Amino acid sequence: MIYLLIGIGLLIVLIVIMVIRTILFRQKEQYSEIILSNSKVNKDEVVKKLQDAIKIKTISNSDTSKTNYQEFEKFIIYLKNAFPLIHKHMDLTIINKYSLLYHWKGKDQSKKPGMIMAHIDVVPIEQGTESDWDVPPFSGQLKDGYVYGRGTMDIKIQIITAMQACENLIKQGVVPERDIYLSFGHDEEIGGREGALKIVKHLKKEKITFEFVLDEGGAINSGAIPSVKKTVAFVGVAEKGYSNLEIKITAEGGHASTPPANTSLGFVSKAICKLEKRKMKKKFPLVTRNMISILGKEMNFMNQYIIANLWITKPLFMKVFSKPGTNGEALLRTTIAPTMAKASMEPNVLPQCASFTVNCRILHGDSGSKLIEHISKICKGMDYKINILRMEEPSKVSDENSDFYKMLSGVIKGIYDNTAVIPYLMVAGTDCRKFENISKNVYRFTPYYIPLEDMKRIHGTNERISIKNITNCVRFFETLVKKC
Ligand SMILES: [Zn+2]
Repeated sequence: MIYLLIGIGLLIVLIVIMVIRTILFRQKEQYSEIILSNSKVNKDEVVKKLQDAIKIKTISNSDTSKTNYQEFEKFIIYLKNAFPLIHKHMDLTIINKYSLLYHWKGKDQSKKPGMIMAHIDVVPIEQGTESDWDVPPFSGQLKDGYVYGRGTMDIKIQIITAMQACENLIKQGVVPERDIYLSFGHDEEIGGREGALKIVKHLKKEKITFEFVLDEGGAINSGAIPSVKKTVAFVGVAEKGYSNLEIKITAEGGHASTPPANTSLGFVSKAICKLEKRKMKKKFPLVTRNMISILGKEMNFMNQYIIANLWITKPLFMKVFSKPGTNGEALLRTTIAPTMAKASMEPNVLPQCASFTVNCRILHGDSGSKLIEHISKICKGMDYKINILRMEEPSKVSDENSDFYKMLSGVIKGIYDNTAVIPYLMVAGTDCRKFENISKNVYRFTPYYIPLEDMKRIHGTNERISIKNITNCVRFFETLVKKC
């Protein structure tokens, strides 16, 4: 009896401790400063500029022999005509023929410069889907309050609105406090090695380091996390590593009329099935933990109770948060997606060698070598070889308490009412990871509101951006450049 009473007593104490922790957790304040924008945007002017930018087909292709570089040259000329004041007041360095680096001198040379980034290239239209578009994808047509076209969301909006903001400020006679750079690479969609990487090389040679770097990345939306009712602005403070691996498996060849127990293609299938079943171990790195704890403040009491007490509820949280195939799962483990496979060229010839390619996103706390170790275990007993086609480790993590982050957060809240700003881990890649050695504050954010159901338009059919978003982006960049 006495033990039962002690047990009940301890349980009550535990529950009370957990409730107190939850109450303290709820009271922690998020940055509350709101920076209002007083920009007046000429809507028609900037909309027309974005429409014209969409009409220039700056399409990236992994096989660069298929890329039409004349369109990239056209784009540079287009910018010169569309933004005459920028081209009068800023220095332009053209890097590797098609990438652009603008430099605007600020008042205070003792301050480190700031950098705003985007990319000029867009992805192609998937063959056979052209007619699914409501308007031709490179027409830049205006329809129902939206500009349609490839590149509207990803990411010519950022180039055009950031430039329009600077053009407006120059017109008003504003000079920024610190130097401002604009960096637009021309091959982000295929890895950024000819654009952003060369820009960084140039900056390193000039010994320039940055107070902050702001590139494309998270957006603003509601409903992305079911238990959060508020609108959320997702600011990427880090991105997962990126790897493409080709796994080649060799087995007996010969005539298909007398097949062995396993062909090399059979082994490939086995390996893929095993990979899908035996995933890499879940992890809870600091970057995800910080995101969850800030996001938790916007959730209901029950969720807060779990998040405030992760010291005891972590296993439950990991289970609920990381259902297979969800964003939650991608935030908690290294993902491995088999995407391509090759075997025999003929139906009646056994393949001596078959191969498959996986696209992997490496979580903080894991590494390229751990990834290869995992795949090697899966292929144990097979005659296999792993070719590394691309390997980038997880990025550094930028501080969600830096002065720039706080200012960014205030500018977002000034434009988007009642919005929570959340530092998050990007599961996709951007150009700005190449800048992490020349700035410790690297953030990934595009200041537009995209409803969840519209997210699939990025890289997809009927990509479009609302006029409201276009003007909000100009206001955002104007305020940011004035305040930074
Ligand atoms: Zn992009």
